[in-house]
Amino acid sequence: MSGGLLDSRGRVARKLRISVTDRCNFSCLFCMPQKDKIRWLPKDDILTYEEITRIVRTLVSMGIEKIRVTGGEPLMRQNLEELISSLKSIDGVKSLDMTTNAWFLEGKAQALKDAGLRGVTVSLHSLKRERFARISGMDALPRVLRGIDRALEVGLRPVKINSVAMAGYNDDEILDLVEFAREKEVALRFIEFMPLDGMGAWSPDRMLTGKRISEIVSERYRLVPRGRELGDTASLYGFEDGRGELGLIMPMSQPFCDDCDRIRLTADGKLLSCLFDTAYNDLKQVTRNGGSDSELADYIRKCVYRKPAGVAYMPWVKKFWEKPRAMYAIGG
Ligand code: SAM
Ligand code: SF4
Repeated sequence: MSGGLLDSRGRVARKLRISVTDRCNFSCLFCMPQKDKIRWLPKDDILTYEEITRIVRTLVSMGIEKIRVTGGEPLMRQNLEELISSLKSIDGVKSLDMTTNAWFLEGKAQALKDAGLRGVTVSLHSLKRERFARISGMDALPRVLRGIDRALEVGLRPVKINSVAMAGYNDDEILDLVEFAREKEVALRFIEFMPLDGMGAWSPDRMLTGKRISEIVSERYRLVPRGRELGDTASLYGFEDGRGELGLIMPMSQPFCDDCDRIRLTADGKLLSCLFDTAYNDLKQVTRNGGSDSELADYIRKCVYRKPAGVAYMPWVKKFWEKPRAMYAIGG
């Protein structure tokens, strides 16, 4: 199979995010605020590791190069290292990383490294134990910090921290998080709160923009702008003393849809060409009904071709999202 994964606006998909489960042991208020009301995907609908590997092999043959495993919480899946090892063995995969809440990371880091995982991004939204518990629904801060240390110890690289910045929740910790990341020598990314909390609780005034974050950081540090590579989500900054790296992910205030090169595979086999894709293209329908690899590739090509223009072209007012989706169900 050949030919890039081109969409109708000329963008080419090279990165894939795989959600391996919609389940999570946390319930972050910007992702899964009403856990008791969630209906998890039925077990039979969840792709097996073999099914994921088959789909990814096809996608890689069509030009996907970089893979990020995510969820829900990816480490809720049993023996995730087995999937990592099969994905790693696919010819053409240039990088294989994971985003995790780190609850299970301390125990799993070595196995994941041995299986071929390259790096890990840990979500950390507060360094205050009680606040962390309030945001994520779990009193997990000490365990998450041990997970970060263990990832560094076993040699997973890069180790990055993702922090969703929310006005009135953690905006007073921006500088503490920066200092923490610089001391640990891990890269830090602040992400603007997106309307993907599943409840429509998002509103512009809850969002801390990248611009505001850079102003806060600049009160203490001199930032050295490094720009944003085409296709990347983060606008990067160094620090004048050379220690550390800050990334600002600004999907809302400075969308990067025009050069987006990411697609997503959900835990139940839907291909989402965009976080805001409204068509759930069901790859499972093809693979479970005896479709050949070339039928699967044709279907994927059509789905990607219809990729929407993106959030950049949507009026980002609350009423737009009549049925807001949640990040845990899509795979952030
Ligand atoms: N459970 C893992 C974790 O929390 O890292 C992986 C899945 S999570 C959905 C992926 C990333 O999306 C996390 O860094 C999380 O903080 C981020 N995220 C979740 N909801 C978000 C939202 N509404 N806006 C911006 N980022 C969000
Ligand atoms: Fe779970 Fe990650 Fe969503 Fe938090 S952000 S509820 S850890 S999937």
